[in-house]
Amino acid sequence: MPSLRVGIVGAGIGGLTAAIAISRSGCSVTILEQGVDIGEIGAGIQLHPNVSRQLIRWGVDKIIENDLIVPEELNTWDSGSELRLIGRTDPKQVAKQAGFPWWVVRRDHLYTGLAQAASEHGAKLIIQARVEHIDDTTTPIKVVTSSGQTYEFDLLVGADGLKSTVRQYLYPGIMPYAPNKLCAYRGVLPFSLIYKEIPEARLFVGNRLDTWVGPKGYVLTYPTCGGRELNVVTAAESKDYVTKMEDIEVEEFYGFYADFHPFIQKLLRLVKYTKRWPLLQTPRMPSWSNKAKNIIMIGDAVHAMQNHMAQGAGTAIEDGAFLGQVISEVARGVITIPEAVTLFEQRRMPKAWIKQQLSLQSGFMYTLTRPEDLKKRNQVGRFEVARWEYNPARPEQSHIEYRNWSVSRCIETAKSMWYYDAEGDADNAVLEYLMSRGEVDEFTQMSESLSRKWSSIVFGNGVDGSWVEPQVDYQHMKNSLYKANGKERDGIQEYGLHEEDYERFGKGL
Ligand SMILES: Cc1cc2nc3c(=O)[nH]c(=O)nc-3n(C[C@H](O)[C@H](O)[C@H](O)COP(=O)(O)OP(=O)(O)OC[C@H]3O[C@@H](n4cnc5c(N)ncnc54)[C@H](O)[C@@H]3O)c2cc1C
Repeated sequence: MPSLRVGIVGAGIGGLTAAIAISRSGCSVTILEQGVDIGEIGAGIQLHPNVSRQLIRWGVDKIIENDLIVPEELNTWDSGSELRLIGRTDPKQVAKQAGFPWWVVRRDHLYTGLAQAASEHGAKLIIQARVEHIDDTTTPIKVVTSSGQTYEFDLLVGADGLKSTVRQYLYPGIMPYAPNKLCAYRGVLPFSLIYKEIPEARLFVGNRLDTWVGPKGYVLTYPTCGGRELNVVTAAESKDYVTKMEDIEVEEFYGFYADFHPFIQKLLRLVKYTKRWPLLQTPRMPSWSNKAKNIIMIGDAVHAMQNHMAQGAGTAIEDGAFLGQVISEVARGVITIPEAVTLFEQRRMPKAWIKQQLSLQSGFMYTLTRPEDLKKRNQVGRFEVARWEYNPARPEQSHIEYRNWSVSRCIETAKSMWYYDAEGDADNAVLEYLMSRGEVDEFTQMSESLSRKWSSIVFGNGVDGSWVEPQVDYQHMKNSLYKANGKERDGIQEYGLHEEDYERFGKGL
């Protein structure tokens, strides 16, 4: 039987990660991207431990390792006329506790890594292929692009962002909206220019991530591009709701930050922003799939969120990883596509909604205005800040991390997010589902369906999409699966897997 044909609409961060994860299941993956190229130039992105764990598993970190930066400090400043440190987190401790690093990277570099990893895993990317029509009234699903080309898929993944064509096909009335009046400005500056124009800048920026919070807005700075550029993204409360990208007068932009510390004002005058970004949120939807459960949507198409937790792309990456895991069970014949899609929705829909809310809460905390609220907020991080203050009587730092007020800077405040393992969660979802059905052996208490799932790793390993009866042809294995690699250690012949074995036997582990 041929392998499952999976079509992905959109080669954004969500689409590329879904392509990597699903290709690992031994499925045949085609990505249809409307643009002439992929990627987005000119801004940075934060990747937290819930995301870096995936990129490490897929080898993306090795492709772009020179561009990934681990900031040495994560600081939050009350940035009025005087600067006050009101929150601090140690990235090394984050990596130690969560098991994975906190990275910052330029977006186009991340795209390069994801696209290369997708290709290395066997996914096919077709550019200038805007999906215009979808027909899911029969199986396989038919998709027609702007050039008139028709594609057929067993499963279609809509990863086509805020203006999603797939969402418009399935849920035409649903559109992202602005849940508050916050908007964003973003761009990058070379460090060489900053240090030339603002000599004191070395005190304030470097290999560190700083959030400068002030009245009705905040500024976020961190390095990208191997430390050669500074990403400067700002949030401000507008007079009205911002629903689309707009051009503004640069003086209007500076006006938002007129009460910030002089350094921030000088820095922003170098950036000269004139584009105002909307911060939209997709409303909660009744479902992310079609009736037949063979179209599923992921990423901003279904759960766009404001950027105050820096988790929009992170959540799309989790979607891709989760989807890859449940589809690997389909490829091995353990569950069906509709079952995998249902499990995906059951787990991922509430998860994404929580993150949408967490993002709003984070923005709310960053933009408090009442003096009594500000005082309380700024005091909450005092233990964590004190831990870092130099005290000659006690030069060694405490090893204990305290809870910080900022949900987006402290892994103690939102553990469900920072420690989350999308593939582990997907595996649990499949196990719980299988345990709820099928026979259980009375004597051993072993569930037949769980045994079948785990056996499938050996006996149904994906590529032909069917359940393979557990009969092992040892001679065949000896001849083709394990080929002697010619090396001997302690007189014992070593064996190794070869490229063609993966093609033949699947990669779906
Ligand atoms: C100011 C700001 C800062 C942010 N910072 C962070 C951060 O630090 N960390 C983080 O995790 N997130 C961050 N985000 C959020 C993040 O950028 C998005 O959530 C993420 O890029 C969404 O990815 P996606 O793949 O779902 O959608 P998109 O990136 O929008 O990709 C969709 C793709 O689909 C293609 N497409 C659309 N329609 C079609 C069609 N009909 N046919 C074929 N192709 C199509 C598009 O061309 C595009 O390539 C930030 C957002 C903003 C606004």
